[in-house]
Amino acid sequence: MSRLSIRTRLTAWYAGALAVGLGGLAATSYWAVHRSLHAAVDAGLRGRLEGTRQFIAQQLPGHSVRQITDEFQDHLVLALGPGFSLIQVCDSTGTVLYQADLFREAGVPPPLPDALPAMPQYEEARVAGRQLRMVTTRLDVEGRRFGVRLATLTDDIELALDSLRGPVFLLAPIVLAFAWIGGYWISARALRPVDTMTGAVQQITSRSLAQRLAVPSTGDELQRLAETLNSMLDRLDAAFRQIGRFTADASHELRTPVTLIRTSAELALRKTRTLDEYRQTLTDIALDAERMSMLVEDLLTLARADQDMGALPLAPIDLSALLRTTAPEAEQRAHSCGLEFSLCLPAMPLIVFGDTSVLQRLMTILTDNACKYTPPPGRIEWCVYSSDDTATIDVRDTGIGVAPDERARIFERFYRTDAARARDSGGTGLGLSIAHSIVTQHRGSIVAEGTGARGSVFRVTLPVAARRIHPLGVSPA
Ligand code: ADP
Repeated sequence: MSRLSIRTRLTAWYAGALAVGLGGLAATSYWAVHRSLHAAVDAGLRGRLEGTRQFIAQQLPGHSVRQITDEFQDHLVLALGPGFSLIQVCDSTGTVLYQADLFREAGVPPPLPDALPAMPQYEEARVAGRQLRMVTTRLDVEGRRFGVRLATLTDDIELALDSLRGPVFLLAPIVLAFAWIGGYWISARALRPVDTMTGAVQQITSRSLAQRLAVPSTGDELQRLAETLNSMLDRLDAAFRQIGRFTADASHELRTPVTLIRTSAELALRKTRTLDEYRQTLTDIALDAERMSMLVEDLLTLARADQDMGALPLAPIDLSALLRTTAPEAEQRAHSCGLEFSLCLPAMPLIVFGDTSVLQRLMTILTDNACKYTPPPGRIEWCVYSSDDTATIDVRDTGIGVAPDERARIFERFYRTDAARARDSGGTGLGLSIAHSIVTQHRGSIVAEGTGARGSVFRVTLPVAARRIHPLGVSPA
């Protein structure tokens, strides 16, 4: 993990990129100037090489080596132009036809033609303290071979290149230093709102989750960051409130049976009772204890589901087969409430990813509710069908129904409608929360719908793992 602050890293990146850019630009321009100057010098050398060849060709017929040497002395400047006397010529015997003073004084060996390649060799050299650009080649003129070395003084060019190099190497660090300082200052300014937000977030504790960050209307990343943090705070706040409510409701719900148990026991202990009275008290206590243990069981189920969300091992199961095996128990339960029961299933297997026992629990909760909230005579129906990629289970009843404005709330923990409370069905208000949690763990959804007349429909939708049924293939049980 990097220990450097974003500010320092940003500045370093910026300065690094600038250094590479500046370096690249300086090197490219230096190289372009260097190349064009040397190209001009080389073009001059090529011209002079051709001039030398023509000069030798003119002088060769009827002249001895001695005479040609004299001609070189007398006419070289005329033939090649002023300032171009930096030349060294020798024939294949090693006789020097002409040699500039600079070469002689510096002891530069004559260019023996037989040792030279056919292609002209260009090079830079320092001779007697002077900077030269030289070309060395052999010339074949009228059947004789000569070695020629031509040079141009490039001191001025080197001076010009030096004067170009100087500012580049001197100015670049200064520009970079300014860029570093400027970059640091700019990133410090740009990141200041982040520091402010960090400070504000640090002030928020579990007791002040209602606090929100100021959102700058800049339309940039900072505005998005502030909005994102605020929406996270919204979710945290809602979750904290929900936990608080849940704890309060759970304590409240647990207190009732505990109080009843205590009161029953205290009353029984006040004086000596008959055997029947003791039996009645113990029966009441057992009922309250059972109600309490059911509540604790439901609370535990929800707490585990909250903690292990997504950890339920899901395997491909045939939903039709599962419901077919669970239906007899549901039918028995319905009959015990004085209700009829019917089942409609697809003829073919309908494969979903699920956990058999957990899905059975879901069906038990929905069927128990249908029993609790459907006065006899009435009817409960399980109906399964599928569309392209979903399997749907409808649990319908002909009971008291759920008012449209309460259909979303009944899945909240401990929420019970007034109609349900009035019936005193002995419910805890946790059944549908558990159902919702089960369906969510199966990546599905559950909603309550009205039937239009009396009764309600609880519709569970699950994703299909594999479709092996005809969409309309339904076989009544
Ligand atoms: P409870 O233990 O009270 O049944 P649930 O969480 O199972 O708790 O249900 C929450 C509330 O939803 C119930 O109190 C009841 O008001 C309503 N409800 C659930 N199922 C039905 C149903 N089949 N018909 C009408 N109302 C229902």
